[in-house]
Amino acid sequence: MRVRSEYIVEFSGLKNGSHSYDWTLGDAFFDGFNRDGFQQSKLQVSCRMDKDETMLVFHLSIDGVLDFDCDRCLTPFTFRLKGNKTLVFKLNGTASEEEDEDLFVLDASEYQIDMAPHLNDLVQILLPMKRLCQMNEGKPLECDPEMLAKLEAYSTSAEEPEHIDPRWEKLQQLKSDDN
Ligand SMILES: [Zn+2]
Repeated sequence: MRVRSEYIVEFSGLKNGSHSYDWTLGDAFFDGFNRDGFQQSKLQVSCRMDKDETMLVFHLSIDGVLDFDCDRCLTPFTFRLKGNKTLVFKLNGTASEEEDEDLFVLDASEYQIDMAPHLNDLVQILLPMKRLCQMNEGKPLECDPEMLAKLEAYSTSAEEPEHIDPRWEKLQQLKSDDN
């Protein structure tokens, strides 16, 4: 993946204390990452990073919008994505030390961090599983009834025989036993 300098934090030359960063995640940012169904994006990340001799702590805060197509009716809508995350990078660590999703270990030879994959991860965990018109930012939308009808017609003609709920099957069985 191409490394983009604006997302690189060169920490080795920084004084201990707080440092601020602002990053914009526009469409170009997501080239090379999995977009997971969204098109346009306008996201802002503000970050305060606290540095001391032992670690770097990034307090990330993201806010902005993404465009999705509704899962039900395919109408485009705008989703507001907002959230926070704290990432810790331990300095002068060794390879045997354990990492997890919020804790990373840097060895003494490392002097910079590419934040792009971490910012992408932050977006990914905040993406909704279901994307529906009613999530439209500002004003919830109704699904397009014409489109739903078309999709319904298409899916019933293409659908495989419906799976029968076993409880329903049992009930049918009971009913036929009555006769
Ligand atoms: Zn919809």
